[in-house]
Amino acid sequence: MDDCIMIDNLVVFANHGVFKEEKTMGQRFVISMKLYYDLYPAARSDDLSKALNYAEICSFVTEFTQTNRCCLIEAAAVNIADALLKKYSVLTKVEITLKKPWAPIGLPLDQAAVRASRSRHRAYIGIGSNLGDKKGYLDLAVKKLSEDESCIVRKVSEYRITEPVGEVEQDDFLNGCIELDTLYSPHELLYKLHEIENAAGRKREIHWGPRTLDLDILLYDSEMIHDSVLTIPHPEMAKRRFVLEPLAEIAPFARNPVLGECAVTLLERIKRNGTS
Ligand code: ADP
Ligand code: MG
Repeated sequence: MDDCIMIDNLVVFANHGVFKEEKTMGQRFVISMKLYYDLYPAARSDDLSKALNYAEICSFVTEFTQTNRCCLIEAAAVNIADALLKKYSVLTKVEITLKKPWAPIGLPLDQAAVRASRSRHRAYIGIGSNLGDKKGYLDLAVKKLSEDESCIVRKVSEYRITEPVGEVEQDDFLNGCIELDTLYSPHELLYKLHEIENAAGRKREIHWGPRTLDLDILLYDSEMIHDSVLTIPHPEMAKRRFVLEPLAEIAPFARNPVLGECAVTLLERIKRNGTS
């Protein structure tokens, strides 16, 4: 979406910088922003309450820039973008240009500047438990993600009781799926999910064995990642009914970019072929 609010050259006196004088004396920073959101509802109704208030945004950015000191303008720009995305859930993307016209480098220049672009990402998380208070653990995952200011839980599927897959003799699972908007990178999200699994007392003893809570990243935008810790799309998702049923319930047209097919098509195929 191309709709955005543009704010150009907001001047803020703040104390970012590497040098002592920059930290103590401060200097002028000049901030330009592009704030992407669907402005059609505000435009259609001509109603201020449906619009983003750019006076409020300028005050927020001014105060944030003055109180959150960084050495690097790279860090300052990314922090401003993240803070805006956290505060205004309607924003889908923020671009910040941060200029430093007084950059103390001892040579004549107009300015040094950085541009940072940050956006919300759509991820689908498969959730499962087959030990202890199964529903309690799945609810805990939803709660922890809802409380995280870098995440917005958009949808949660029904929880389904499913029989375990594989060789290990174990109790039935309770499975579901979460639709998540997140500012985390895929690896940051994996780290966050491990933290939540650990908070649920997850022990990694038997591979594919019983677990209090298992959180898997099924999809992350249309990214394809394969490294030593992370594979996205989740390699097992297309084979597993207990993953595809809750995913297809909340996002029938979420597309696996490797297979080029959406959740509902993959689920229909499994149903026809009669695998797990
Ligand atoms: P499984 O989910 O396959 O039963 P685990 O939950 O024990 O097994 O995960 C083992 C490892 O799988 C994790 O430590 C993680 O690094 C890796 N992994 C790779 N891709 C993903 C993914 N998409 N989502 C979650 N974990 C993943
Ligand atoms: Mg897992």
